[in-house]
Amino acid sequence: MRDFTKGHPALALNTASLGHNLDGAGAGWSPERVIDACAARGFGGITFWRREIGSRAVAIGDRVRAAGMQVVGLCRTPFLTGPDVPAALADEMKAAIDMTAALGAPVLTIVTGGTEPGLRGLAGTWDLLAERLAPACDRAAEAGVRLALEPLNPMFGGNRTCLFTVADALEICDRLNHPALGIAVDVYHVWWDSRLSDSLARARGRILGYHLCDWLAATSDMLLDRGMMGDGVADLRAIRAAVEGAGYTGACEVEIFSAANWWRRDPGEVLDVIASRFRNCC
Ligand code: ZN
Repeated sequence: MRDFTKGHPALALNTASLGHNLDGAGAGWSPERVIDACAARGFGGITFWRREIGSRAVAIGDRVRAAGMQVVGLCRTPFLTGPDVPAALADEMKAAIDMTAALGAPVLTIVTGGTEPGLRGLAGTWDLLAERLAPACDRAAEAGVRLALEPLNPMFGGNRTCLFTVADALEICDRLNHPALGIAVDVYHVWWDSRLSDSLARARGRILGYHLCDWLAATSDMLLDRGMMGDGVADLRAIRAAVEGAGYTGACEVEIFSAANWWRRDPGEVLDVIASRFRNCC
């Protein structure tokens, strides 16, 4: 297992930790200001959200690399299934893949969307997911990008996801068997899974992202009350050991949706705490 106690080049910021995934949340720093603040603290990379990038993907990607970091990934695809699939899904998916490539990011994260309207349970929705993913995988391969299926905590079933565990995401990977498709492991979503280490052992070569935060024992908002690493009950070291045991050597991306706490603080303070907790708790 990698030793982060003395340095943190593997640490990446997901800008959702500063509220940048939601309109009106956070301090509203520009991508440039975020890049400078992360570089000054020795972060190794940044993951952005599409809403921050607009038409400036190439310039922002170049700016990250000029600061000595990498763009780790881009969040996220439109929903592929469920009640909120965009009318022009193929076009939106292509735009997201092209934005990822223009940023110079290797990975675009997929949140699948929920159970398809008119269906119940998961089986029919999984068929549709695979059908809609196949052309996106081809498009991603052409663009030199990989797609990471991120399973979400079951409480997000219905409208946001149809994949609840690492095992679920691997099953879709197995069905498509496409070199551009892998998974993202987010501790918020998978910490509770008693079979997680077994599933991760089967994920060798297919883990494309690792997302950090913590699960607060008294979570007050399922979406927007994630904890800082060390403040909750997830066994972060054990999960990372299993992720790295499956061969993952990439960035560890801190992704904390926290409307009532961390998003209200000065972003510089948040970044300082992230770096410290990363070295000591992860
Ligand atoms: Zn995540």
